[in-house]
Amino acid sequence: MPVPAPSALVLKCESCGVEGPHRVLRGKVGGKDEIVFEGVVKCSACGAVRSVTNREPKPLEVPLILSWMERSVRQTIEMGPGELVVVGEELPLAEGRAVVTAIETKGRRAQQAKASEVDTIWAKKTDQVWVAFSVNMGNRTVARRVLAAPDEEFAIGDIVDLGRDRVLVHRIKRTGHKTLREGIVPAEDIVRVYGRVVRERTSY
Ligand SMILES: [Zn+2]
Repeated sequence: MPVPAPSALVLKCESCGVEGPHRVLRGKVGGKDEIVFEGVVKCSACGAVRSVTNREPKPLEVPLILSWMERSVRQTIEMGPGELVVVGEELPLAEGRAVVTAIETKGRRAQQAKASEVDTIWAKKTDQVWVAFSVNMGNRTVARRVLAAPDEEFAIGDIVDLGRDRVLVHRIKRTGHKTLREGIVPAEDIVRVYGRVVRERTSY
């Protein structure tokens, strides 16, 4: 299947020296182990037109085992072949963030490896989620939210600190369930927490 030529490339201009977008006037893309563009481009800074051959390493689909709470999902992540993968460092996902927990390369564990030499990456999702609150303030209800780890649990009867207010949780709407009046729900499954402000008693 032929790869369409890009509409523009970021290149360093040989005429004006500016590194910036070059409009592709004509060209084609080929290559096996790398993406090779051959064609004619126009510098957007000075208007110079020239022929170029541009080579980019082809991204790889690296096997990834991504765990989130109790679950592990086998998937792949697209990386440049020379990109370095390091245990303990962040792995950029299409959605969210993860930290690399282990790498296998050539059948053994390693602390780091080039993407082209990685057999499998293990990573753990590190996202936080927003938990929505409806807080009864007595004569009105206000919306608040708080950041929590996906597996952080909220229980009916808990008092949650929302910064300037402390809120007693009395109901939780859980994804795919009706509103609960008792129980514990992890942050990632919460649609909304209903609570009321707890009056602080500083003295008696
Ligand atoms: Zn130029």
